[in-house]
Amino acid sequence: MANKYILALDQGTTSSRAILFDKEFNVIGKEQSETSQLFPKPSWVEQDATEIRETQIFVARKLLSRLGIESSDILTTGITNQRETTVIWDKKTGKPVYNAIVWQDKRTSEFCQSIKQKEISNYIKEATGLIVDPYFSATKIKWILENVPGLKQKAINNEILFGTIDTWLIWNLSNGALHISDYSNASRTMLYNINDKCWDKKILDYFDIPENILPQVKNSAEKYGFISEGVLGKNKILLSGIAGDQQAALFGQTCFEQGSVKNTYGTGCFMLMNTGEKAVKSESGLITTIAWGLNGKIVYAIEGSVFIAGAAIQWLRDKLKIIETAQETEKIAYSVKDTAGVYVVPAFAGLGAPYWNMNARGTICGLTGGADYRHIVRASLEAMAFQTKDVLNAMEKDAEISIKNLNVDGGASANNFLLQFQADILNIDVTRPDFIESTALGAAFLAAIGANIYSMDELKSKRKIDKTFIPKMSDKERNFKYNGWIKAIKKSAL
Ligand code: ADP
Repeated sequence: MANKYILALDQGTTSSRAILFDKEFNVIGKEQSETSQLFPKPSWVEQDATEIRETQIFVARKLLSRLGIESSDILTTGITNQRETTVIWDKKTGKPVYNAIVWQDKRTSEFCQSIKQKEISNYIKEATGLIVDPYFSATKIKWILENVPGLKQKAINNEILFGTIDTWLIWNLSNGALHISDYSNASRTMLYNINDKCWDKKILDYFDIPENILPQVKNSAEKYGFISEGVLGKNKILLSGIAGDQQAALFGQTCFEQGSVKNTYGTGCFMLMNTGEKAVKSESGLITTIAWGLNGKIVYAIEGSVFIAGAAIQWLRDKLKIIETAQETEKIAYSVKDTAGVYVVPAFAGLGAPYWNMNARGTICGLTGGADYRHIVRASLEAMAFQTKDVLNAMEKDAEISIKNLNVDGGASANNFLLQFQADILNIDVTRPDFIESTALGAAFLAAIGANIYSMDELKSKRKIDKTFIPKMSDKERNFKYNGWIKAIKKSAL
């Protein structure tokens, strides 16, 4: 039967993935291929942009051929991607002029530090919603332009193009016909004015980046064009959804209303709150970003992250060696009635929002002779929930919205103990969807909207819930435990 599937291409930091959904968003199949990271110097992180492109095309082709599905069976495609990662390539040859500089790369730290005290920093925050940081694309672009010989002149001559990973993939998938991005990805470059919806001339001037190398910014869902014939299969395939990974996850969790929130529990946590048509300015060091743009109308989000979440569980496994697998932490946590007063603050890389103390370090406190490894394991899981509460509180304060429900996803959201404790400590319901890969689902949802297959209301009804965790803890116990956490945080601030 022709035309019945939606393809999601999910290009992440460590892998390229392709997932095929049917029209009810059941997963028909998926393929994944790891991508390598290069570390040429301490704090530098690069990837081979050609490998990103090749693995992405490879997994999509492999998936379709394994399932025996023709390109003509695909209704449309959505793309989601690691954000901020920067590629510049030669327009004529299609060859990258330098490796992709990955979001984690800190080579421009000193430069960012040097402009922090200048007026331009305030302007950037006002215009882009972002805090000046090497994480975002702008200073990575500037670095490539200044360090690849002859590139500035090539830029002036209109011979090179810039893109985040969405743009780079789409340019290749369309055989160079489309040089586009979407509002969500553009808002992570630190060059896009999220109020005026345009590339910001003052910031471009300041970084000496010519506008002609930048992609055209489109809605997060619309009919952009096609993946060319012969790229994934014989026929051309419609392309109708684009979003950066965290925004795609927000969409995949159908957080369509103002005040709805998703939290992804992975290595770190990424939390986004839909703030509707209002770009909320944070007083707590959170980021204001574009969630998506549909029909030219922008929906904004506020974003916060926890640096170390699931990574603390990896640390228990690989460094302390008190567990063998991440999965067993659930059973261990349930095997004791509480943490016996133990708190683990995994501030391995300092503390983020709302504390912003880069000198803080990890702490285990409240130890007595009765405490054993089980209490430490349980306290490490609880730490994920406490850190999430800290960020959520900051969001509620900034947005002046009280949150009623938390939608969760990511690897560690499989842990029932964690999610029950999260519901208890927040005193709100915590909802886990059936399919926890919200990022790919969000790309498929956007593609469906862009191709006019479904409305937003219809998508809401397609979402499948696995379990809702309902708070059971008394106010007294909740306050007692959270006060203990605040005291532990103070101890970690060296
Ligand atoms: P990422 O996308 O950041 O690589 P994932 O979403 O795949 O992360 O989640 C993996 C992280 O979650 C790891 O840090 C791991 O320690 C943690 N994790 C995975 N399963 C569990 C579990 N059942 N309980 C607690 N933590 C878990």
